[in-house]
Parts: sequence; structure tokens; C-alpha cells
Amino acid sequence: MRTPIIAGNWKLHMNPDQTTEFVNAVKDKLPDPNKVESLICAPAVDLDALRKAAKGSNLHIGAENAYFENEGAFTGETSPMVLKQMGMDYCIVGHSERRGYFHETDEDVNKKAKALFANGLKPIICCGESLEKREANKQEEWVVGQIKAALKGLSAEQVSELVLAYEPIWAIGTGKTASSDQAEEMCKTIRNTVKDLYNDETAENVRIQYGGSVKPANVKELMSKPDIDGGLVGGASLKPDSYLALVNYQ
Ligand code: PGA
Repeated sequence: MRTPIIAGNWKLHMNPDQTTEFVNAVKDKLPDPNKVESLICAPAVDLDALRKAAKGSNLHIGAENAYFENEGAFTGETSPMVLKQMGMDYCIVGHSERRGYFHETDEDVNKKAKALFANGLKPIICCGESLEKREANKQEEWVVGQIKAALKGLSAEQVSELVLAYEPIWAIGTGKTASSDQAEEMCKTIRNTVKDLYNDETAENVRIQYGGSVKPANVKELMSKPDIDGGLVGGASLKPDSYLALVNYQ
């Protein structure tokens, strides 16, 4: 069975001191990692502090972005190889904010996912439609297209290991959560897409998160859905109490 995974996505919040303080406040109160995987994905500048503070605890750690090259003349980018050296387990790829503000394409997302695997990191690949797409009832077509493009050339073994995160853009940071039925419907569609592209086993293995205004008050309901295996949480992951309520939802 799939182990649920609750991930904080800190976005552009927190400094190294705040990171250390946060981890010290949560690290002894995390759930059994066999029951729920607890993860924090932090800004690149906080990752050293994150690793040091999380050492020896059940907290999994990750980055929010990486480039698809390990080194070279790429000013300002972050190397997947160095993220691995720094002890990261995961890296978010293709968040809608990266696609929107930083013009990341489906092709970039695919290249980044491959580069992460090549360096021993697990990608959390984000997908999700805009309000405009949903109002035009094009959400399914859109998300399936994003998933197909993101997974292009990845093996069934790799897809079994990665995490997919469905984050409708209209629900991110807006306080407007997709209903648990809407979230389940799309997560199921994503799992069926993996089944079509690969096989039953891969579809059963891949973990699918929902993201978009997940908070302690709605996490249990979302997690009760059969195809939702976790949450990718922005705002509600920034305070230790709230984060602990999320990961200890069971
Ligand atoms: P939110 O962000 O929980 O603040 O809506 C989620 C995300 O963008 O990953």
C-alpha cells in the first residue's frame, strides 16, 4: 500500500534561523514514517540549515526547484547533483508559480524530472488547471496533457517512485479548496493516465497529492479519498503547530 506523504512547500518564506527553529519544534512530534511521510521543501538558501536540523529525525527534506544541468554557465540556477550531495530526498518540479512567473514549460518539467532521477532525487511533479480552464470544462484534458508531457521517457520504476501533485491554480493560496470530490476526481483521472501510459502496478504505486489551501481543518476529509495519497501545502505548512496538525491527521 502507498504511504501517505504530507509535504510543506515553503515557497519564498523562512530564513535559515527560522528553518532551524521550525525543525527543532516539530522533529520529535512527527508521525511514524511508515504511516505518514513528513516532508519539508524549502528555499535553496535554507537547505543546509534544514538538513542539519533534521538530521537523525523522521523529517524528509527537499528543494522547491532545480535546474536540469548539474554544472556550467547557468547563473543563478541550482544543481540537482549538489542538492543530492546536500542530503535532499525530494524536489518539487513544475509548480504553477514556476510555470507562470518563470515560464517553465512542460518540456523543462520533463527534463528536470529526468535530471533529478539521474542524481538520485525523487521529483514531486505538479500539475493543475487555471480557473479559466475549469470554467471551460477543459481541466481534465489540460492536466492529462501535463502529466503525459512530464512523464515522457520515464520508466515504470521511476514513475512508481515519484510523486504527482494535483494543484488547481484557483485553489492555491486563495483559501478556496477544491472540494474533496473534485480533488478525488482529478487524482483518479491522473492515476488512470498513469495506468494507460504504464500498467496497473505503476498506477497503484504512484503517490498522488492534492494541493491548494490544504489546512488542518480539511486534511482529514481530503485524505479519506482513495486516490489522494497526500498533500502539498503552502501557507498552512509555515507554522510548527499547523504543520504538526497536518502530518498527524490520522
Ligand atoms: P497553499 O499552496 O497551500 O498556500 O494554497 C499550495 C501550493 O502552492 O503548493
